[in-house]
This record gives sequence, C-alpha cells and structure tokens, in this order.
Amino acid sequence: MATEVASLESEIRRRIEAGGPMAVAQYMGLCLTHPRHGYYTTRDPLGAAGDFTTAPEISQMFGELIGLWAAAAWRVMDSPKKVNLVELGPGRGTMAMDMLRAAKVMPDFRGALALHMIEISPALERMQRLALASADVPVSWHRTIEDIPDEPLIVVANEFFDSLPLHQAVMCADGWHERVIKIDEDDKFRFSIARDPIPLFDEFLPAGINNAKIGEIFEWRDDKVARDLGRRIARADGAALIIDYGHVKSAIGDTLQAVSGHGFADPLIGPGQVDLTGHVDFQALGEAAESSGARVHGPITQAELLRRLGIEERAAALKAGAPVEYATKIEAALHRLTSEERTGMGSLIKAIALSSPKLTLLPGFET
Ligand code: SAH
Repeated sequence: MATEVASLESEIRRRIEAGGPMAVAQYMGLCLTHPRHGYYTTRDPLGAAGDFTTAPEISQMFGELIGLWAAAAWRVMDSPKKVNLVELGPGRGTMAMDMLRAAKVMPDFRGALALHMIEISPALERMQRLALASADVPVSWHRTIEDIPDEPLIVVANEFFDSLPLHQAVMCADGWHERVIKIDEDDKFRFSIARDPIPLFDEFLPAGINNAKIGEIFEWRDDKVARDLGRRIARADGAALIIDYGHVKSAIGDTLQAVSGHGFADPLIGPGQVDLTGHVDFQALGEAAESSGARVHGPITQAELLRRLGIEERAAALKAGAPVEYATKIEAALHRLTSEERTGMGSLIKAIALSSPKLTLLPGFET
C-alpha cells in the first residue's frame, strides 16, 4: 500500500511540476480511475469494512424495486423482444443480482434481457463476475456505454455520476477562475486558483448563478456521459433511471468530499487511497440529456421514488412472519433508505429518469 500512495502522489507531483497547477477535475479523475493506482481501480470500497455504504448494500429491497421499475419500464416500451439492461458503475454487482431476482416475477421480461455492466475497475469487475457467475441471463462487461449494441435499452445507475470528475470554479474580483491544486512552499498539495479567468464562463453558467460573491464556488461536470446517454435513449426505444446524491437545481456551493472509513477525510492527502465524490447537478444532467433528444422525468427524492415503487409494502411483506431480529433489520433499512431528515438518504439522494420522447410516463415518475 505504501508504495501505491507514493506512486500516485509522486505522479501527480510530477505532472504539476511539468504542466503547472492541476484542475480539481483532473486530480479527481486520476485519484479515482488511474489505471494502476486509482481508488476504484484497485479496490472494493463498499460495505462495512470499506469506506462507504450504498443503497443496494443496505438492503435487497432497493435492487428489487429497481428491478421491478425496469420491468415496468419495459412494458411501457411495448415489451421489446430483446432489451439491453445496462448498469453504469455496478460496484459489487449487488443491485444487478437483486434486480434479476425480482424480475423473476416477469418471466417474459427476464427472457428478453441481456445484462451489460459498464465498469472501469478491474477489481470491481472481478467481484461482479463472481456475483453473477450463476446468472441465467447473458452478461457482458464494457468500459463505456458506447460499446453497447444500438438496440432498445434500459439503463440504471446508482451513485455513479457522483464519482465522475468534478470541475470547480472560484469567483474572484475579475471573474471565475478554475480551482486547481498546486504544490505549496512546504511541499504539500494545496487548493489554489488558476492564474487567468475562464473565458466566457458567464455565458456557460446557468441562469440564476449571476450574483456569486468572491470566494464562492460553482461546480460542473463534463456532460459527455449525460449527452451520450440521452442520445442513445432518444434514438433507441429506451429509459434510464439515475439515482445519486445531488441537487435539483444548479447552485453555488462546494460539495467535493473525501470519504474514508465511513467518515470525512482530506481530499489532498493520500490521493488514490480515499474516495472523492461531489454532488450531482440534476438540472445540468437533465438539460444535457434533453439537448440530445431525450425526455426528462423528475427529479424526485429517493424517498418519493421508493415509496411510489412500493417499498413500504415490500418491507411489510418481508417482515411478515420473519424472526424479530430480522424484522428489526428491515425496519432499520427502510428508515435509512427513505429518511427525510436533513442528512437522510431519502431526501439527499434524488432520482431522475430519461426516456425516448414518445414515452410520456415512466413508473415512479407519474405526477
Ligand atoms: N452502483 C454501486 C457502486 C457505486 S460506486 C452501488 O450503488 O453500490 C461507483 C461505481 O462506478 C464503481 O463501480 C466504480 O468503479 C464505477 N466507476 C467510477 N467511474 C467510472 C467510469 N468513469 N466508468 C465506469 N465506471 C466507473
């Protein structure tokens, strides 16, 4: 491990020395997905022994409901004979397994689907292959969505977009400057700002972000993934469900976080050893998908989505007749997934759906 720390840190150092301060987005990309030393590329970060826990790892109910969502979306698409079920960033493969199990109640849907996992991490791909070793549907692995055959598709993504590189700009007296990482006099990494303002940045900013104060931060991501996804969905018959930490409207604010051992860490210490994440701007994501022809549904909160998909009924069914200890666990999971307290997953996490323009209604997004 120690050599790994040294190597990504020294590689970033070398790049900064050669090319000058590094944009936050480039730093985040290297930390998470550097082919040899990236955080995701080299480990399984999930679960109690890892750094953070995601909804599918909290309870089987989550993946099951998403599986039923996919089956219902397939019906809305007029039940195409063949459909590619695509998961972006599938982690340990837990959600995919739970989805497939739940889809058993709709054998015609299961018979139509081929599962496609989009995963950049060889370590997590290995775990997914193990998890799905006995799946009775065709499964294949790819690095990007562009590698999926151009056929009807249903895409799901949980906590994927928050791990894509996040750009930050800082408001200064002479306009917005990109936030960068430099090497300070004490030889440590420090946040700084690029020397020159970003040209024409005001035109790029969403309406409403025009009165930022000095020092305030605006964040954005490259919208290529959202545009590609939107184009795919618009062209083929298709639907996508994207669930992530984020805000409904574009806003000012610094959401870059380093997470390690289920707590917060310093993003500039131990690059590649800690998770880096930033909230998803659902307005920007929706607009990008819309600009390539997709219809946008939502966003709504995770609590709202899961309730509409029947999580309370599912929890009650699982609890019925179960030993008390198990019933208590289900109740706790239900609470954790749908809690609308300020820091609850139910309200912090949002869900947005995309579809081809002719699909006016998607399950869970009826208004
Ligand atoms: N969806 C899972 C895992 C979330 S962690 C869950 O909810 O438990 C983020 C996942 O996205 C990991 O599987 C990570 O390896 C993958 N990932 C991150 N960046 C990626 C990229 N650029 N391309 C493909 N997969 C990526």
